Order: sequence, then structure tokens, then C-alpha cells
Amino acid sequence: MAQRPFIVGNWKMHGTRAMLSEARAIDRAAQRLMQVEIALAPPFTLIHPVRREAEQIGVGAQDCHPADGGAFTGDISAAMVADAGAGFVILGHSERRETHGEKDKLIAEKGKAALDAGLKLILCCGENQEKRDSGKATDHVLRQIKASLPADIEDPVERLTIAYEPIWAIGSGKAASVEDIVEMHTAIRAFLVKTFGEEDGAGIRIIYGGSVNAENAAEIIAGDEVGGALVGGASLSAESFMNIVLAVQ
Ligand code: PEP
Repeated sequence: MAQRPFIVGNWKMHGTRAMLSEARAIDRAAQRLMQVEIALAPPFTLIHPVRREAEQIGVGAQDCHPADGGAFTGDISAAMVADAGAGFVILGHSERRETHGEKDKLIAEKGKAALDAGLKLILCCGENQEKRDSGKATDHVLRQIKASLPADIEDPVERLTIAYEPIWAIGSGKAASVEDIVEMHTAIRAFLVKTFGEEDGAGIRIIYGGSVNAENAAEIIAGDEVGGALVGGASLSAESFMNIVLAVQ
């Protein structure tokens, strides 16, 4: 059976309790749009309140620490975000790779901790402009996925999503072309089939992120091997986020 498109809003470091009205509006609208799987990743502080108020949508975290607990001031473990109500975690986002210096090995450790805590995983990958210009984007992305995937993922179709997010497209207002997206997703699919076998490799979702909006979403999601979208800026208001969902349903 074909999977429903998966549309995930990444609120990044935006949102206080005043934003809960947006989550409520998204959840209300989601009840009429069951053909699309909708999720939000608010900041840590809003995971529990969003989970409490929203019945229909998935709720996730934007990071977790690889350890179960301990002397790690300011950090949050996978078990803690699960306890707060998260069902998944986004790991390896380029903003964390860049501003927190996160390397593939650490991301793989976080991924293992997340899976052990019962969370699903959205693993981000993507090249910068320089890698794209030099024709090395695909090699770079496949290497990144290989090095940041945790080992021995049980039930990967259910528990793993790959988010391809070219860094130059994030927040730039300029999404990658459908042609480039499909080319990269096709290469990622081949890698997943090689790694997880024919059946699981074909079933793992690959979603695209980078300046997705209501105007370009339908065309992007109609592309081969595009299973949904990770949405940053346009997920901050219920109206713009749900316009994307409406465009792809
Ligand atoms: C993101 O940061 O995950 C993202 C896709 O951002 P935007 O939609 O704003 O480009």
C-alpha cells in the first residue's frame, strides 16, 4: 500500500506557549486531512503541551543526547523527550552540524539512544553549495547517511525516515529543483536497498526539506521517491503549514 505523504514542521528555536494556538489549529485541521501524516517538532519546552493539546498529529523533538542520563548540564536525553510525549526525534540537521559541530559519529550515537528509547528517527543529510557546485553532492550525502545511521535498526520502515535537505535551500526561499531532488532521492533509495535489503530499503521514507511552501509542495511531492517534506519557516503558522498539507493531499 502506498504510504501517505509525511509532512513534518520543524519549529526550530521558535515558540513559547503563545504558539500553542497554532498547534491546536494544525491539529484541528489535520482531523479532516487523514490522507496526509502530519507532525510537528516544537522546541523541547513545548513538546509536552503540544502533545497534550494535539490528538491527531505526531509530535517530536529536534535533538537528544546520546547518554541515558548523567552530568550533562543543559542536555536532554532521548528517554526524557519520549517521557514528555515525543514519538520521534530529528537528528543531524545541518544547523546542529554547523552551529554545534555535530559529527556523523555523534549523530549515530544519538540515533541509537533515540531508537533504544522507543523513538522514531528522522535523519537529516544534505550538501552545501560548494559540494553541489563541485559535483560531489551525491557522494557527500550518501557518505553522510552511511556514517550517521545507527547500527542494527529494527523495523527500519516504521522507525526510520531520511530527510534530504540541501543546506543552500534551507531558509533561502529557493527550493532545489524537482529534478535535483528526484536524482538525490533515487541515489538514497539505491543506498537504502543495498543497506537494508529489497523490501525494507524500498519502504523507508525519504522526505525533502528546504524552502518548501504551498506553491512548490505539490510538485516536489509528486516527484519519484519523495515521500513528504520537512518544513521550517512555513510551519510556524497553522495557515501556511496547512496550505502545504492541502496542496499535497
Ligand atoms: C529546515 O530547516 O529543516 C527547513 C527545511 O527549513 P525551511 O523550510 O525554512 O527552508
